[in-house]
Amino acid sequence: MADIEFNNSQMHFSDRMTKVYTSINEQIELFEKRQHDALKIYTDLFDALIHGPLSHSDITTERIDFEGHRHMEEMHAYESEIINQFSSFMKDSDQIIHDLEYDPDSKAKLIHFLEVMESSFRTSMESWEKTIARFEAFIEDIKNSFFRLVCMNCNNTYIYGDKYCRYCGAPMGTPIFIVDVRECIYGPKPVIRTHVCSECGYSWENCVMIDRERWCPMCGGKVKVSGDLFSGLGDLF
Ligand SMILES: [Zn+2]
Ligand SMILES: [Zn+2]
Repeated sequence: MADIEFNNSQMHFSDRMTKVYTSINEQIELFEKRQHDALKIYTDLFDALIHGPLSHSDITTERIDFEGHRHMEEMHAYESEIINQFSSFMKDSDQIIHDLEYDPDSKAKLIHFLEVMESSFRTSMESWEKTIARFEAFIEDIKNSFFRLVCMNCNNTYIYGDKYCRYCGAPMGTPIFIVDVRECIYGPKPVIRTHVCSECGYSWENCVMIDRERWCPMCGGKVKVSGDLFSGLGDLF
């Protein structure tokens, strides 16, 4: 009878261990994937910065390279700490399951061990997650500083939420990032123009020197552009 009870508690403990093991393992895999994806994006962006049409100053790419490495070291440090922690956890838990057979009184101690392990993992995982999130924010910064989202079809600027490209009328699939070329155009002053879709009536304004927006971003319909708002101010009176 005592033996059965004892085996049950061993089983129960073993089950609980397996659950903790599985959940930690899943989290690690998830974070590794997220880290891997971020590294891939970063590498692509950095390559594009170095080999792209814009030659950024060496100082800028050096600074990005330096920062990037700092982030990677930080993430990898937590990653290996967690992997080591995990393997020592596995070793300890094997020992604990084994000991249970001979020392049923140690159950409370062992449950405490599990709780400590869980909470220590949670803390480490949170720290690891923060380093990944910082790296992702760093990547966003690079994107926003040196890249812009464009239509895959015509490479003109994508405006958040557009379903159709305003420049070529193509349905907006997944916009792509390209290295931003900061043009310096000397020409006419920017002008505010109103665009009204002849199909769905959606309207918007822009303020640029040369307007090339001809298609409705909502339905892809042809757009009527009414000229200069400044020159039309007279109509208000
Ligand atoms: Zn386009
Ligand atoms: Zn429309």
